Amino acid sequence: MTVVRTLFDEAEIARRVEQLGGEVAAMLPKDAAVVGLLKGSFVFVADLARALARSGLTPSIEFLKLSSYGAARTSSGEVRLVSDLTADMAGRQVLLADDIVDTGRTLAFARSLLLGRGAERVVTCALIDKPSRREVDINADVVGFTVPDVFVVGYGIDHAERYRYLPYIATIDPDP
Ligand code: 5GP
Ligand code: MG
Repeated sequence: MTVVRTLFDEAEIARRVEQLGGEVAAMLPKDAAVVGLLKGSFVFVADLARALARSGLTPSIEFLKLSSYGAARTSSGEVRLVSDLTADMAGRQVLLADDIVDTGRTLAFARSLLLGRGAERVVTCALIDKPSRREVDINADVVGFTVPDVFVVGYGIDHAERYRYLPYIATIDPDP
């Protein structure tokens, strides 16, 4: 049976996301565009957008859906675009938000995509950072929580499409 252990509870996440909103708001203009990566960042972006608003921003919200080939637990190497933005990024100051930075491939891919679309500046924000897993030379500018090499779920983050609904972030043991 899968053991689910709470790593960051609801209150802890709420406090940290509020701080991130303040930090990020100080780096960006009022009309910045928030670009979240689906599906994992949908809960984080919902909370972060409202934290940004409380810090005075009026951001537009966009999503990009990316995927790694295969159904592996972590990205398998190649990232592809599954669903594109619906807004023009030319000249925009963008906050790129993702759930987890692991190897760094997803964040690097999304960042260059946005710059390729003419974004003037891309500030990157990850709720969770796993620096020990990095394979690409990229770090998020703003990070919520740094964790060791554990597998996490909840708060939008899944395992085989389960657990996204959990209001907290938990670790689960690898399948036997
Ligand atoms: P990267 O391209 O940085 O290797 O991959 C980031 C993506 O890998 C995350 O957005 C997520 O989809 C997946 N990933 C990395 N670590 C975890 C984890 O601990 N749990 C889950 N559910 N996905 C993870
Ligand atoms: Mg993701």
